[in-house]
Amino acid sequence: MDKLLEKRKLMIEVVKNYGVKNKNVLQAMLKVHRHLFVPKEFQDQAYEDYPLHIGHNQTISQPYTIAFMLESLELKKDDKVLEIGTGSGYSAALIAYITKTKVYTSEIISSLALKAEENLKRAKIKNVEVIYADGTLGLKKYSPYDKILVNAACPDFPEPLTEQLKNNGIIVAPIGGLFSQEMVKAKKIGKRLERKNLGSFIFVPLVGEFGWK
Ligand code: SAH
Repeated sequence: MDKLLEKRKLMIEVVKNYGVKNKNVLQAMLKVHRHLFVPKEFQDQAYEDYPLHIGHNQTISQPYTIAFMLESLELKKDDKVLEIGTGSGYSAALIAYITKTKVYTSEIISSLALKAEENLKRAKIKNVEVIYADGTLGLKKYSPYDKILVNAACPDFPEPLTEQLKNNGIIVAPIGGLFSQEMVKAKKIGKRLERKNLGSFIFVPLVGEFGWK
């Protein structure tokens, strides 16, 4: 059997053992080739359940963490999703595989944005638009969004993001201090956010206007 497919299957078993059940998320992780999103020197570790360096002091998150966040977003086929912090482009690729619609993802480091575009092209994922910008400002042009995912640690939900979320939309972000955060899922109901804490995680900081200065 294809060795990499075997590795992806093992990765999915690990993720399932942590409690991730969403079939669409697991299927996307089986189909999207994570090794195309990590630097060459780490390719043999692409399917291990830990984060890997992608340059510029940034990492591609651990597979379980990404699976958990995507499950929390309750993604549906026709959801319009905004992602903040493209990194390698891997999580955007998974979202794109699940939703089938266009995914908007912003990255504040230009060379990472370029690399992510390259990775997505190699993985033959066409429905992702990578935007080089400060994602804490959201992306007004295509708003409002059904779902918003923040891939970096923030002091609180950046205001422009909750503004650009649809009514009944869901936003997921790691919120807290610089060294440890709580994953928070919130549903927008009118002007109110109904929040739920989902457990502790560690992320790189979200910088930018509504992030860490
Ligand atoms: N899930 C990603 C990993 C993201 S790591 C993956 O699959 O690879 C978090 C990313 O957020 C980093 O690349 C970092 O540069 C980016 N980032 C930090 N602050 C940001 C901001 N204000 N806007 C957009 N991206 C930001």
